[in-house]
Amino acid sequence: MNEIIFILLVFALPAAIGFKMALSRGKNPLLWGFLSAVFPFFIIVLYFDKPKHEITGHFRKCAKCGEIIRWKDSKCKYCGFVVLDSKII
Ligand SMILES: [Zn+2]
Repeated sequence: MNEIIFILLVFALPAAIGFKMALSRGKNPLLWGFLSAVFPFFIIVLYFDKPKHEITGHFRKCAKCGEIIRWKDSKCKYCGFVVLDSKII
């Protein structure tokens, strides 16, 4: 029984995190979940890898400079442009 918990913690947890982060970044969740399970370093890669396009609810594009910023951010961290909240539903 302890082995199952150990395997869950070592493989399933990073896989779940990788899966979720890949989804929010518009990447293949199965591929990234697998990569994260085998080599958890990919979670860090995912974390710092911002998407190339806007993903509703997770990332948005700055209307001024075109950089991708986090959905929750009210201000662009690249140019300081205040993002209008009209897109948040
Ligand atoms: Zn900007």
